[in-house]
Amino acid sequence: MKKIVNNNSYKRITYLKVFWKNNQPYLQIYDHDADLVTTQSLIGYDFSYQVPTPFERVCVNYGDLFEDENQNRCEKLVKSGKKCDRCIREDNIFASQFHNVHTKDRSSISQKMLKRMQKENILYIAGFFDGSTKVGTSASNRIHTRLLEQGAIHAVLVVETLDGITVRLLEDLITEELGIGQSISIRKKIDGLLNPLLREPLQKELKILSGKVKDCILNSGITEITEIATTWENEYSSETCWEKIQKYPISLSTGSHEMKVRSVLGRVAALNHSSGMTLLADLDELLGITVESGKITGDEISVQTKLF
Ligand SMILES: [Zn+2]
Repeated sequence: MKKIVNNNSYKRITYLKVFWKNNQPYLQIYDHDADLVTTQSLIGYDFSYQVPTPFERVCVNYGDLFEDENQNRCEKLVKSGKKCDRCIREDNIFASQFHNVHTKDRSSISQKMLKRMQKENILYIAGFFDGSTKVGTSASNRIHTRLLEQGAIHAVLVVETLDGITVRLLEDLITEELGIGQSISIRKKIDGLLNPLLREPLQKELKILSGKVKDCILNSGITEITEIATTWENEYSSETCWEKIQKYPISLSTGSHEMKVRSVLGRVAALNHSSGMTLLADLDELLGITVESGKITGDEISVQTKLF
């Protein structure tokens, strides 16, 4: 639908990142005219924007430059995808070092990476509303942030290790021995939110799995492990707005949108649409796209009502 908008009445902005801090979700936003990066609380945030055609893209890592002077020189503009070539290169180098660190000979690991690895880590198993489960690891001091980032619904924190290498060895062992994977696709997470299983069977399943995981670890011969066995619940997942929620029927990366954020699970938001409906959308669709923000009437949407 075409709309008439006065060119001076809106701001050119790019949503760069969704991130969690102190158990709260935030949005990192780049303002093109002011050349500023700001952070806004995501709960209650009003999205009111339209996507011009064609639109410009900004590297989603661009905001890091404003926060940390030691970051690489981000190229800012991107032709396609979410990151500029330079950031992709840097991220790949880091990721390959970080994720494979436990498979390498210690003498071949950089001092910087070894130092990074020398802190307590937790091995957890997490469950999602579609019934999928995964094993994962996180530095102990950011375990809750990690679970919130992933949009897990329930989790059991199984053991703590003294460093990041041991915990990764254990994680691979669990995958190999028990067949528990290390990642869940966003599609499965969204399917689960649209058709959630009951909590009780999911919690039971995690409890059984955590017992198997613990046995597997105790039989591994790896020592210097502390058992924790605490459970974690994602409080956002019990908010009423998620009940019988349906999918926002249009992509956030085209057209006009007007809605307010009610709740967030991982990178999926429950949005109060101007029509009065609460719908869910993957905020990742919007990240990196330069939009025109201001007083905007959202496109009309049509959602079939669920009959149950
Ligand atoms: Zn970049």
